[in-house]
Amino acid sequence: MQAAVQAFRDHLAPILDLRAAAAVLGWDQETYMPRGAIEARAAQLSTLGRLAHEQFVAEETAALLAAARQEVEGMEYDSDEASLVRVTQRDLEKATKLPGDLVAELARASSMAQHAWQEARAKADFSLFRPHLERLLELSVQKAEALGYDEHIYDALLDEYEPGMTKAEVESVFGRLKSDLAPIAKAIAAVDREEHPFLSSIYDVQSQWDFGVAIMRDFGFDFERGRQDRSAHPFTTTFSINDVRVTTRIHEDFLPAGLFSSLHECGHALYEQGISAQLERTPLADGASLGIHESQSRLWEILVGRSREFWTHYYEPLQGRFPDHLGDVDREQFYRAINKVEASLIRVESDEVTYNLHIMMRFDLEIDLLEGRLEVADLPEAWNAKSEEYLGLVPADDAEGVLQDIHWSLAAFGYFPTYALGNLMSVQLFDRAKEEITDLDGQIGRGEFGDLLSWLRDKIHRHGRKLTASELLERSAGSKLSAGPWLEHICRKYSDLMGVEF
Ligand code: ZN
Repeated sequence: MQAAVQAFRDHLAPILDLRAAAAVLGWDQETYMPRGAIEARAAQLSTLGRLAHEQFVAEETAALLAAARQEVEGMEYDSDEASLVRVTQRDLEKATKLPGDLVAELARASSMAQHAWQEARAKADFSLFRPHLERLLELSVQKAEALGYDEHIYDALLDEYEPGMTKAEVESVFGRLKSDLAPIAKAIAAVDREEHPFLSSIYDVQSQWDFGVAIMRDFGFDFERGRQDRSAHPFTTTFSINDVRVTTRIHEDFLPAGLFSSLHECGHALYEQGISAQLERTPLADGASLGIHESQSRLWEILVGRSREFWTHYYEPLQGRFPDHLGDVDREQFYRAINKVEASLIRVESDEVTYNLHIMMRFDLEIDLLEGRLEVADLPEAWNAKSEEYLGLVPADDAEGVLQDIHWSLAAFGYFPTYALGNLMSVQLFDRAKEEITDLDGQIGRGEFGDLLSWLRDKIHRHGRKLTASELLERSAGSKLSAGPWLEHICRKYSDLMGVEF
């Protein structure tokens, strides 16, 4: 490698080490850390975050970047070297635009807001959270102004999670969903009247865990380079390409919760484990965007894990593990049960069809807040009205309404759309994988995932952050982001499942 690029890389590597160390502490906080350590841990995380930030925005970084930029002139766009320079330059521009005081104040305010949000949610009392949210909104507007944007203030915030994506683009794909999805979801739910109480009897926790782990192995999760633990909210975090951690939660009395959260996080982890080893200890060793990341988790969780083909192979082993629960339940009935469609109030418990409705209503509200058309004080009422409009349901209280998600307490405005974008992208990618892999359905029906994983490794995983989400999508799926394929998938799957044309 050229000298200047190498020097730039060498300068960045310890900064990545600091971030990885912070990730280890963050993972520990959510899994094994005793409650008493909260304040000490917050101080440790803040120190590591500050050190990493200071080293990154130091003048030396800019100087080394300038030298490296000259050296990569004329190199291929997606060479490791040119990509390192291009992507890091963008990161550095963003990092230096934000005043240190604002970063510190956002961290402080959101840590207080999280405590307030937890209490507010426990008491179903929005008024406890309201002043914190007002402050976070104010700070987020300052942040967006500091980062800058061309068209809409939302673009600056969305860009943090989905680089290059704009509010206008999200609106254009959501527009199609808005007109088409709600009637389809309603029609499916109207036909889907069957109840499935067998999913809610008591299932041995260890046995659930073992079954999930066996499938993760079959998917290709490398337990020599990662592990799974338990946490209240499942997540995936990465300390190195060779150390990727997932967590899951297991509900003794609801079988799908643990199983599908394991498969979901496994999808995220396969992405991280599949990033090219050449990119280790560089800013490129990460996912391209949250939307792309979510496309990987949803592809494995839903398009594979909730498909009929998948259960052709795995239902018998599951029945064998739980003969008392499932002995009398045939495979088709189980398949219908894990794909039941029913509008519900809680996003994280919602099914594949109604999930995007939850996202669209949050997107509308965020835009209204940022445009100043909606006051935080009026948010609960606006939430309930949106819930009625999109889901046909009104929450009984704020705990199952406006207070249900953690994101706003983290000042993460602009995050929600990435969930829906991931759903749409997952189908665009999977459709293409089916065209390019011979008999993929048959392979899944035999519990064989090697070809699918190799395809995803080649098209998505290995590139890390070298390409943007839209570049990855265009190169691998041959199309731009679109709601069409996802809507077709929903209609196809549920027409077949219910025997009614949607
Ligand atoms: Zn996810």
